[in-house]
Amino acid sequence: MRTPLIAGNWKMNGSVERIRAFGDAFAGDCLPAALDVAVIPPFPYLQAAQQSFDGTPLKLGAQTLNPEPAGAHTGEVNAAMLAEFGVTCVLVGHSERRQHYGETDADVSRRAEAALAGGLTPVLCVGETLAQREAGATRDVVLGQVAAVMEPLGASLARHLVIAYEPVWAIGTGLTATPEEAQATMGDIRAWLAGRDAELAQSLRLLYGGSMKADNAAALLAQPDIDGGLVGGASLQIDEFYAICQSA
Ligand code: PEP
Repeated sequence: MRTPLIAGNWKMNGSVERIRAFGDAFAGDCLPAALDVAVIPPFPYLQAAQQSFDGTPLKLGAQTLNPEPAGAHTGEVNAAMLAEFGVTCVLVGHSERRQHYGETDADVSRRAEAALAGGLTPVLCVGETLAQREAGATRDVVLGQVAAVMEPLGASLARHLVIAYEPVWAIGTGLTATPEEAQATMGDIRAWLAGRDAELAQSLRLLYGGSMKADNAAALLAQPDIDGGLVGGASLQIDEFYAICQSA
C-alpha cells in the first residue's frame, strides 16, 4: 500500500567519483520493483548525479532549500534550481540544520511549502534530543514539529510529504533506537495524522533515521509504521546501502 523509500543523506561527504560509482553499481534492475531509493548528495554533485543515475532506479534528492523564489540570498538555492537538476525530494528540518544553522519550526514550514510549490517532495525531519527523551518529552516534541509543518497545509498538499523520524541522539552516534522505540513514536505520528485525516495517515510514508545499517535495517523496517529509512553514514558505502535497500 505504501511504497517503501530508502533515502541516503550524504551530508557534506562524497565526490564526483563516488557519484559515478553509485550510478554504475545501481545500473539495471538491481532493486526490488516496489521500492523507491533516493541519493541525497551535496549540491555541487547534483549535475553529475543527474547524468550518472539516468537509467538507474536511483532518484535524486537535495539536503535543504531556501524558501525564497530568487534574490539576494548568497549561498542559497531554491526549489526551481533543484528541479532543473532532476531533484525530486528535499530534506527540510534535518536536526543538523535545526541545531547548527538555527532553523526553527517556522523556517522548516516555509521550506516545506516552497518545496511543494516547486513540485518537490519535502522529507520533513523530526526528532527529540537525548535530554528531551530523558525528560519524557519525546511525544510532545515530535508531534509539535510535525504539527508546525502539517497544520498549515491543506490535505491535497500534505499528502505529498514524507516524514522522517530521526531521534537526534541516534544520528551519527552509532546508537539506534530499538525497533520498539522507533515504532512507539512513529505510531504516535501516524495516530496524530489519523486524527486529522484518516486517508492521509494511511498513505503518508514515515521513515526512520538514526544509525540505520545493513544489520539493523530489517528489524526496523518490519515495524508496522516504518515505511523506509533515512540513512546517513551507511549510505556512503555501496554495499552497505545496497544491503539496506534489499531489506526494505
Ligand atoms: C541522517 O543524517 O539523517 C542520519 C540518519 O545519519 P546516520 O544514519 O549517520 O545516523
